[in-house]
Amino acid sequence: MIEDMIPVTLQNFMNFNCNCDNECFNECCSDLNQALTPYDVLRLKSSLGISSQDFLKTYTSLHYGPESGLPVIEFKPNPDKGYECPFVKPQGCSVYEDRPGSCRMYPLARAITKSRETGEITQYFALIEEPHCKGFGKQTGLTVEQWLKGQDVDMHNKENDKLMELISLKNRILPGKLEGAQSDIFYLALYDLDEFCAQIFEKDLLKEFTIPDDLLRNIKTDDVALLSFGINWVKYKLFGVELLLGE
Ligand code: SF4
Ligand code: SF4
Repeated sequence: MIEDMIPVTLQNFMNFNCNCDNECFNECCSDLNQALTPYDVLRLKSSLGISSQDFLKTYTSLHYGPESGLPVIEFKPNPDKGYECPFVKPQGCSVYEDRPGSCRMYPLARAITKSRETGEITQYFALIEEPHCKGFGKQTGLTVEQWLKGQDVDMHNKENDKLMELISLKNRILPGKLEGAQSDIFYLALYDLDEFCAQIFEKDLLKEFTIPDDLLRNIKTDDVALLSFGINWVKYKLFGVELLLGE
């Protein structure tokens, strides 16, 4: 249960320290209700060396937002271990280098606004104090900005912000619930990246376009480029935004 939410700035000192000597070690990974972003799925399936289909089937459950129809991917509960994360081990996180963005940010919450004129993103942070977490009140001497750098969170935030922008576009253009086929387009291009790639290169998914060779090469060899392209493809398919072929 959330006890308190304290707004902080990047310059504030981070009044928090998590380490394996804390009596609560691993507790935060044993009662999850955690949605995974497309970039989280990309990093985790690459870390495990498996396909997106295998990752999604083995480790996640899928449901659709009742109001939005958007796919929501979460870690699958385990009959023996309930909502414990499948990657937590007695010594800590077994996918630490590729852990999801929300694991990196915890116990900070982050919100953004984007200027329509300049495109500039402004970030806002708050510290969420939960009773089970004993890391609060322990000084590290780091500011929030320095602590975030240590969590290596920039790439996750950059990629997750693209998802936020897509959802905000959806809310403006298609504010109601997506139809089944529209939800499937979201799921394919954002979460099931290996199937999306196979449909492009083996099933001619993009046959109505002339795709530049360098873009084709990028999306075939680089999952991050494929995901960015997938987001643009969803904007084109669902919202009529011209498909960007230059990145
Ligand atoms: S201090 Fe908080 S974040 Fe760290 S292990 Fe304990 S519950 Fe998890
Ligand atoms: S991915 Fe790692 S840090 Fe995140 S909940 Fe699972 S074990 Fe914990």
